[in-house]
Amino acid sequence: MKLKKKASSRKLPHPRPVDALVYPRFSGIPTFMRLPHVTDPSELDVALIGIPFDGGTTYRPGPRFGPRNVRVQSAMIRPWNPVLKVDPFEKLRVGDFGDLSINPLSIEDTYRRITEQLGEVLRADARTICVGGDHSILLPILRAIHRHFGPVAFIQFDAHGDTWGGYFGSPHSHGTPVKYAVEEGLLEPGCALQVGLRGQVYSEDDFEFARKHGIAMITSEEFHEGGIELMKRHLRKHRNRNVYVTLDIDVVDPAFAPGTGTPQVGGFSSAQILSAVRALHGLHIVGCDLVEVSPPYDNGEITSLLAANLIYELLCLF
Ligand code: MN
Ligand code: MN
Repeated sequence: MKLKKKASSRKLPHPRPVDALVYPRFSGIPTFMRLPHVTDPSELDVALIGIPFDGGTTYRPGPRFGPRNVRVQSAMIRPWNPVLKVDPFEKLRVGDFGDLSINPLSIEDTYRRITEQLGEVLRADARTICVGGDHSILLPILRAIHRHFGPVAFIQFDAHGDTWGGYFGSPHSHGTPVKYAVEEGLLEPGCALQVGLRGQVYSEDDFEFARKHGIAMITSEEFHEGGIELMKRHLRKHRNRNVYVTLDIDVVDPAFAPGTGTPQVGGFSSAQILSAVRALHGLHIVGCDLVEVSPPYDNGEITSLLAANLIYELLCLF
């Protein structure tokens, strides 16, 4: 996507990662990709934003520490992408916006806060890449995106559809955001795609919501069979539309990404998810997020490292 350059900031030099030949990568205060911490969204084309909320988790907790650990592991990111042939920091003004203010004790209050704070960023004409946090944060993000862009085409990388209803009397959890996004009309009908679904569900009825609402599904098994070509055929519908991308790290196999809330075996390898994200190149992406990194369950920080690289790849799509 080509973003309009901001007149106000055109003369300022682009924010750049800290020079690793002056300050080695293990030094300094961690920010996403060692970019400057920029709190004025009008200075940015793309804001990298942490949302450290995991109050929607139903199994393993911990994604509240996701943004912090992904920042640390993003220290190895270098600017040039030899596959997509782009330096995103050269093309765009990118910065670490910091973390949103959330309420760790209330999902409803957190939802209000996220929608409001993201609204301010979007109104300043900056695009958002949010780092969770559990997947419950998707709903308030999409509410903000919808206010700004109207209904969006939707791509979800996830082992789970997240179209379940309430949980223990609460309407919201990390298993519900897509259901409410559809019911609230935040997504363009007929333009939603879920990739990487797998694992046991309670019954075949669990896919009923997606079928009823025309959400296309590529299971992990189908992806292993049909690969990127299968995905690209589905993506034809997304061309020339505003597209929102959400990436739940559990789409990746726990052998590659063990640090997550609800692991499912049989998922993507690191290489497969990198290719799948790069296959979105050319779409008109208006926002994205990466969620469900749970550092306490990680081994050798490999999940946070993969997440950091995927955020960089998502950034390159802009
Ligand atoms: Mn999910
Ligand atoms: Mn999931």
